[in-house]
Order: sequence, then structure tokens, then C-alpha cells
Amino acid sequence: MNVLSITPECYPLVKTGGLADVAGALPLALGAMGVQTRVLLPGYPGVREQLLDTHRATALPGLFGGDGALVEGTTAGGLPVLLVEAPHLYDRDGGGPYQADDGRDWPDNHLRFGALSWVGAQLALGRLGKWQPELVHLHDWPAALTAAYLQAATRPPRTQQPRTQQPPRGAASTAASPPNRGASRPATLLTVHNLAFQGVFPTDLAAPLKLPAAVLGYDGMEYWGKLSFLKAGVQWCDHINTVSPTYAREIVTPEQGMGFDGLLRLRGDALTGIVNGIDDTVWNPATDLHVASPYSARRLEAKAANKAALQVELGLHVRVDAPLFCVVSRLTTQKGIDLLLDAIPALYARGAQLAVLGSGDRDLQDALRREAERHPRQVSVTIGFDEPLSHRMQAGADAIVVPSRFEPCGLTQLYGLRYGTLPVVARVGGLADTVIDANEAALRDGVATGFQFSPIDATQLAVALDRACLLFADRLAWQRVQRRAMTRDVGWGTAALAYFDLYRRLIDSRPPT
Ligand code: ADP
Repeated sequence: MNVLSITPECYPLVKTGGLADVAGALPLALGAMGVQTRVLLPGYPGVREQLLDTHRATALPGLFGGDGALVEGTTAGGLPVLLVEAPHLYDRDGGGPYQADDGRDWPDNHLRFGALSWVGAQLALGRLGKWQPELVHLHDWPAALTAAYLQAATRPPRTQQPRTQQPPRGAASTAASPPNRGASRPATLLTVHNLAFQGVFPTDLAAPLKLPAAVLGYDGMEYWGKLSFLKAGVQWCDHINTVSPTYAREIVTPEQGMGFDGLLRLRGDALTGIVNGIDDTVWNPATDLHVASPYSARRLEAKAANKAALQVELGLHVRVDAPLFCVVSRLTTQKGIDLLLDAIPALYARGAQLAVLGSGDRDLQDALRREAERHPRQVSVTIGFDEPLSHRMQAGADAIVVPSRFEPCGLTQLYGLRYGTLPVVARVGGLADTVIDANEAALRDGVATGFQFSPIDATQLAVALDRACLLFADRLAWQRVQRRAMTRDVGWGTAALAYFDLYRRLIDSRPPT
């Protein structure tokens, strides 16, 4: 099975969040089942240098305002990668894939990810060399425009007028390739990692994006008077999946649908959820190179040395008996960091400690920093993105707090389970699907793996933190839950099988050409 995976980030080459972990790990897990995946990624600065055996495969002249090229290479882990090299789009000083250092989106993000999607569509149609995938897997809005280019290339243009607005003048005539009604199109899958990111842009950008009028209407990419890249994927992909079954159910409701619930309900038959796995070669406390004292469910006592080392590193009181909670997260209201700030007194009351690693909203960063200044031996706040420290925190902390208001899947609670760092989570999305609350019955039956709270507010979070502190005081009971958490299967095995079945079904149900 040949698959093209189109993504704005991919671990270990470039990562801002969980999407990168999935895009990097899933193809490797599927590789063991005979699926050959090539990952298409923007050629950000520094990415090519991390690849082995790179060579220029195809020239891409006149790619959205400049010349580009398709470069092939392989990651050290053996993943085949295709880079869209286009210095005019991707070579930037500082910043990340989506934003400059000042936190503002790159002003040409529509072109940066439009080009990624356009090149993806050409590959999908077999127009860039001999290779053609049987399935194209699109990750989030930066890749979702691929579906519009495929639609424009392979379906007859619609005759009816868009219901809400006229397409921009001249857009159709700028189409890069003429519609080819006979072109064979691979199966298409859109994975929605986070519905909050929708790729919404003004309609007058359709022309520079070479989007024909036929894809711009109400039954196309039109989204509340603008254009949404994500909507192209939701509208036209053969199947849409989210990264947990609960999130798939939540996003068809007006409360959690973020404006997409109506369309998602219409596509309900083609919408499912598959919980992400974690990459066991990267996240395993027995082999983790960032961890000073390796441990496992059988050698749990070795975890204590990591806690002491982390307390020293972060300037906290070195105390075995103080429960140490950590947070590794974007610092945003989605992630419930404001709730955590309100609930912190519950930790002080129990003599607990808190270590935060993350970056995000200025106000939340400042409030956390103030908290750390007031309680330097009890609270530590590290602003920034630090992969090795995130491993040391998972290994050293007793518990990890994930108080998200919504959470498509969430990865840090899965790492927490694997590291015996018990998750304290909001009962929502993938958090609800992956953590079993340590209530009386679950403790008695030996199935508990963490703590859940609902409704999602500071009061209930404080109650959950308090429950965690109480259980922590009972060493044997805590260790039983730790062992249970650590032996739960959170690797890619189950998820990769589910993706394999889905890929197979989608490929088999494409009409013959
Ligand atoms: P999201 O993708 O919504 O940000 P996830 O829980 O799905 O949230 O994934 C977050 C990923 O990013 C995890 O791998 C987590 O360890 C990592 N991460 C988040 N913030 C940081 C940080 N400041 N430093 C290092 N890793 C981080």
C-alpha cells in the first residue's frame, strides 16, 4: 500500500505539538504492516540538514511567487520524506512553522500551506514523476487544501452559483492545471487533530492560491464569508477522522463544533475517531536517554532518583513526601491553564509541588511566573519548548495535570501513563477515553490509572488534585495505580491497525478508473 502523508510538522524534524508526534510515528508503525508512506513537509530552515541521502527530485518553477523544488530524503529513523523547498515561502529568521517570534501568524501562511497542498495534489495525481499514492492522508488545515486542488482537477465544475457570495473575479482563470475529469484520484483521508485551527482566510486570496471558482462556494470552501482550508478537507475527503472517539462525538455538537458541527453532522457517516498511540522508542522510561535513572513497572523504585534530580534542577525542595505535579503544555485557555492557576491553592494546602514547562499566552505565562516567584521552592515555571526537559519532567514528577477545556486526544497524559506519572485530567475528548478515574470501584477492581474531573472548572480541578494528594499519601495504593498505568498499552499497535483497516477500506472503495 502506497500512502502520501501531508503534514505541516513531523517529529523529529519539526514539532510544535502532538500532530508532529503522530505524523512521525504512525508511518513507522504502519511500515511494519507493509504500508509504504512518504511524508510531504514544507522545507523549513534546518529540516533538510536532518535528512540523510537528500537529492533534488523535481523542479517546481513558479511555485506561488518563486521557484521551488521537491527534495527527497530519509530521516535517521528510516522514514522517507519529501520536502517542498521554496525559500521565498519557508526561509525565515526565527519563529516556527506558523508564527513569527512575536507570536503573530506569518502573513503569507495561505501561500506557505497552499503551496504544500498544491504540491501534495500534484503528487497525488501522479503529475510529479512516476510515483502515485493509493491514498493521501491529510493532517489538519495546512494540508487540507489538497482536497480542493484534487476536487478542481478531477471533478466537473459545478454549474450552480455559490449561495452566499460570488467567487473572486478571475480566480478560475488562474487555475494552475486545467480540470482533468479523467484524472485518477487516490483515496483521501483528513485527520482533524484540532478543530480550533481552521485555516480561515479572506476570499480575495483565492486567486493567488490558484483556486478555481468551482471550489469556492457554500458547498465548497466558503466559511462564514471567508475561505477555510479545513472546510475543503471536511467537504471533499472520502473520510474524516479525529484522534479519539469521544472528540469525534463532541465535534458534531454546537457546543464543541466550532462552526463546523453542521457540516460534520452531514458527513457523519464518514467521521470516526482513532486514539493516538505514543512512540515507544522515544517514550519509554526504561530506555529514555534523557532520564538519569531508567525504570519500569517492575523497577518502579528507580523513579525516585529522577524526582530528586528534577527537584534539584528546578530549585524545588528536595522532598520525597511532597507530591510533585507537572504540566507540559501550550499555555492557553484551551489547555485550562487559567483553571490551574485558580486551583493552585489546593496544592499548597497539601504541601504539593508544581513544575510547569510550556509557552503560549503572555498573560498566562506572566501569572505562572508570578506564582513561581512567590513560592520558589514549591512552584517552578520554565517558559519555552524543551524536549529533553519534557522527558525529565515525565520521569521525575508524580503526576501530570491536563485540565483542558477540550482535547482532541492529548499525548502528555499518555506519556504520563507510560512513565507512571499519574494523569489528572478533565473528562473531555481523548482524555476521557484514555484515563480511568481512581474512584472507589476502579481502585477496588485494580483498573484505575489516574484522576478525572468534570464539570471542567477550577473547583473540580482542585478536588481532583486533592484526591491525587490523598492517594499519594498511601504509597502502596499509589504504586498499584502506577503499575496499572504503566502496563496499559498506549503504543501505536492498536491505532496503527485501525488506520490500516481504514486505509484498506478507503482504497478498496475508490471507483475503478
Ligand atoms: P497539542 O498538540 O494540542 O499541543 P498534545 O498533548 O496532543 O497537545 O501534544 C503536545 C506535545 O507537545 C507533546 O508531545 C508534549 O510533550 C509536547 N510539548 C508541549 N509543550 C512542550 C514544551 N514546552 N516543551 C517540550 N515539549 C512540549
